[in-house]
Amino acid sequence: MLSLAQWLADYYLQPLGEVVFQCLPGYLRGARSHVSTRVKCWLLATSDVALIDNLRQRSPRQFEICEAMRARQSGLTALDLKKINPNWHAVVKALENKKILRWDWMEAKAGLPRVTGLPQLSPEQDQILGQIEPRLDSFAVHLLDGITGSGKTEVYLRLIQSRLDAGMQVIYLVPEIGLTNQLIERIERRFGSCFAISHSGLTDLQRYRAWDRFRRAEVGIMLGTRSSLFSQCDNLGLIIIDEEHDHSYRQEDGIRYHARDVAIKRAQMLDIPIVLGSATPSLESIKNCARDTYFRYRLDQRPTQFPPPRLELIDVRNSRFEFGCSQRSFERIEQHLAAAGQVLIYLNRRGYAPIVMCHECGWQALCRHCDARLTLHQSVPRLLCHHCGFSQAVPAGCPECGHDEVKHYGIGTEQLEQGLQQRYPQTPILRIDRDVIASREALKSRLQQLQSGEPCILIGTQMIAKGHDYPAITLSIVLDADQALFSASYRASERLVQTLFQVAGRSGRGDRAGEAILQTRFPEHPLMQALLRHSYREIAADLLRERRQFGFPPYARVVMFRADAIKLEDALQKLEQIRARLTSAQDFDALSCVGPMPALMTRRIGRYRAQLCLISEDYRVLRSVLAQAMPALEDLPSSARVGWSIDVDAYEL
Ligand code: ADP
Ligand code: ZN
Ligand code: ZN
Repeated sequence: MLSLAQWLADYYLQPLGEVVFQCLPGYLRGARSHVSTRVKCWLLATSDVALIDNLRQRSPRQFEICEAMRARQSGLTALDLKKINPNWHAVVKALENKKILRWDWMEAKAGLPRVTGLPQLSPEQDQILGQIEPRLDSFAVHLLDGITGSGKTEVYLRLIQSRLDAGMQVIYLVPEIGLTNQLIERIERRFGSCFAISHSGLTDLQRYRAWDRFRRAEVGIMLGTRSSLFSQCDNLGLIIIDEEHDHSYRQEDGIRYHARDVAIKRAQMLDIPIVLGSATPSLESIKNCARDTYFRYRLDQRPTQFPPPRLELIDVRNSRFEFGCSQRSFERIEQHLAAAGQVLIYLNRRGYAPIVMCHECGWQALCRHCDARLTLHQSVPRLLCHHCGFSQAVPAGCPECGHDEVKHYGIGTEQLEQGLQQRYPQTPILRIDRDVIASREALKSRLQQLQSGEPCILIGTQMIAKGHDYPAITLSIVLDADQALFSASYRASERLVQTLFQVAGRSGRGDRAGEAILQTRFPEHPLMQALLRHSYREIAADLLRERRQFGFPPYARVVMFRADAIKLEDALQKLEQIRARLTSAQDFDALSCVGPMPALMTRRIGRYRAQLCLISEDYRVLRSVLAQAMPALEDLPSSARVGWSIDVDAYEL
């Protein structure tokens, strides 16, 4: 683990101490003492049968305990002993003194799965397992590139089983929202209690306990989100990263790293395999498949009856809308509900309405601390900033010109829910977004309703877009993806395409065919046309060509310097100082340096942000410039007034 921490610190240019902190459970980072979760267990210390038989006459109580231990090789806990003899303590002490008994910490054996009729593998699954299994004993990256619902998870589970059978342990990473009860139950049914879970919904102590059980090999599987990657154990045999394209694997605050990339490094250091899976693999991974340590496998069929639906575009340029839905969408919703299907509506905007403004003078409700609009939330009711949490009362009239009315525009999930509830009073409307899912329990109860298979409408933000498997969903609707077509981010197209394929892939997973529709005002946009005609793989290949042409990642590497300050000039000036130190490095001219310039959303949480970006298609040049400049950079203070940080492989430019 220390070597991995060292590598992470070097690669991401972060302080080693902080990285080591990151690798430990939060619970151990404070000045806390170790809490033992272990259980003492007594075992026979001798195999001398005569010695024990001798006790039968002379000391029946001692003999009784030894007999019980002979019957249970794994040992007896204090509780077990108490059931045999309430005064077991003195008896056990005597046996210990005779060296007939000894005690140890309980180590539950990994790999005692509860197998209950495994599904017959599809020919595709079978073939892939046949190819991966012979390669389990050394480092390789296996990319499972399989359409939504094609049975990737089943492949992971078989691989886990085969590692547990070999006495090894497995780390299984899922995105933050991927860790639903559905998956947990599926794993429990397969592996019994042989796994630990770790995610941000648990307390530090709970996460520590999971970490500790895995470390002591009490469980064979660590199922968790990003930071579970740092789970320690002596016998790691496999790492799995489900939905490897997901953004939650990238840590964006504190130590910045990409869990997928660090996991690949860990696997390489340990010479063990790593399996990445996705229906919409990242462009990085697709490109990496050209390397000889990468293997790519395709799953093109669902084991169930129906393929994932193709997206159908609905041209809404001349449509009449009600709370964001076109008449055509209503028709589809009604038809699917009447056929007892469940409907999923994806709208990646929480709150009631994203724009509040005055019609007379053009005033808009903006955040006092960020370059962002305030969103109207009606349940509160207040105007909220989604970036810093600032909130203020909804003004009765325009604060600028005094006009007696302010209006709101645009649709958020809150308004959609209200509208659908009025239109379909008999149908349960389940909304899932950060405002209503304060706890995992709230999420659980909604997901249980989905599981029941009753017709209902599920609406939500990206929380509902991926990962789940609810067979009764037959219709997926994307209300508004147009904004992403004109985003300033070079990753926007990739992300949009991934989301749309994922949302479409939620439907038609059961015994009825699915349908997926997308409302758009730009049906002629090349990306929309591509969505209609091509598979994700073809679109990804096109996007990769584009990235190569423009010299963007993954064909170039990016190192971003970020600064933030109360005044914009201070942030820019700090980056000027950094730039000056970089320019003195040999080879500096061989890379492109963009900035200093204000960041995309310049003011955020009351601070101005600026950036300086180094880009190079030659990674060695980039590293060499950084290596030369780092000593000088380390002398540059980062203070509360002007802070700065380095972001290696920055996600956004
Ligand atoms: P993915 O991980 O690719 O989305 P899953 O592994 O969740 O796909 O499989 C989708 C559905 O198909 C699940 O309900 C799963 O139980 C089922 N399934 C997977 N493999 C098989 C199989 N070989 N036979 C029958 N059903 C399967
Ligand atoms: Zn006004
Ligand atoms: Zn704000």
